[in-house]
Amino acid sequence: AKNAGKNKVQMFSGTLAQQLGERNEIEYGLGHALQRQELMLYYQPQINMQHGNINALEALIRWQHPEKGLIPPDEFIPVAEETGHIFAIGEWVLQTACQKIKSMQTEWGYLVPIAVNVSPIQFLRGNLVETVQRVLRQERVPPHLLTLEVTENARFKDEAMFTRTLEQLKRLGVCIAIDDFGIGYSNMAYLKNYPIDELKIDKAFVQDLEQSVTNGNILLALINLGKSLHKSVTAEGIETEYQHRFLLHSGCDVGQGYYYSRPLSEQALAEFMREQQPK
Ligand code: C2E
Ligand code: CA
Ligand code: CA
Ligand code: CA
Repeated sequence: AKNAGKNKVQMFSGTLAQQLGERNEIEYGLGHALQRQELMLYYQPQINMQHGNINALEALIRWQHPEKGLIPPDEFIPVAEETGHIFAIGEWVLQTACQKIKSMQTEWGYLVPIAVNVSPIQFLRGNLVETVQRVLRQERVPPHLLTLEVTENARFKDEAMFTRTLEQLKRLGVCIAIDDFGIGYSNMAYLKNYPIDELKIDKAFVQDLEQSVTNGNILLALINLGKSLHKSVTAEGIETEYQHRFLLHSGCDVGQGYYYSRPLSEQALAEFMREQQPK
């Protein structure tokens, strides 16, 4: 019995405790990551498929941790959602993205819209609309240059609040994109009743494309659904020439993925934009 107990303790210290330790470190570090300026935004170009020019940028958050290095969002956003840090982080993301819209205009003469990811937790709390309005006003950014990307999870958590928030945001004049579109939910009829501008087809559909004809047909069906609802359709996770061509010929409006560009640091973005601009 004693041995068994000892084994349990060892198992605990080997796995669970380690995981808990890791989580605690993330949770603890999040408390001052903002204040210590460890968070940063990368920007991934979204390409107009017909013309090949840049349509917008998606802001993707990164955490430059003093000991752990660059931490991807999937490792800390869920923790931030649980602890409530997501509200301060989300506001910082909005503000930083809006400042970027402004600085791109003044530095390069470019009016490039930026898409920002909004967590369902942020989306369903009462003051997102006020926050967006305040930040747009402070940074003097026209609302139509800001897109908010939200997943359908938000709608499933609280449909009434989801609807209300959408309508209020729409009244502000910002654009709304449904992110990770196509996964998990069978009833898409609701889309026609909502003021949504854009559908972003989840990268899983794009990346399965080469495996079977069926996958191609699903992708086509999603694009056609979006088009018949008069939404702009974006495909993400485009990595290959084949995927690019398939989507272009399927009538997809906007493409995003490593095929065009990885998410770029501020400095890399500056280089990217310089190359875009024929002098
Ligand atoms: P997402 O919004 O679906 O973002 C797309 C993810 O796909 C990004 O991962 C991007 O780097 C990656 N990606 C882009 N092109 C390709 C490609 O061609 N192939 C593959 N395999 N991946 C590609 P990332 O940056 O790690 O972000 C992961 C998720 O974290 C995002 O998924 C989003 O849900 C969340 N996230 C990122 N930034 C923020 C933020 O500022 N706030 C919130 N609340 N969530 C964020
Ligand atoms: Ca997104
Ligand atoms: Ca997505
Ligand atoms: Ca996602």
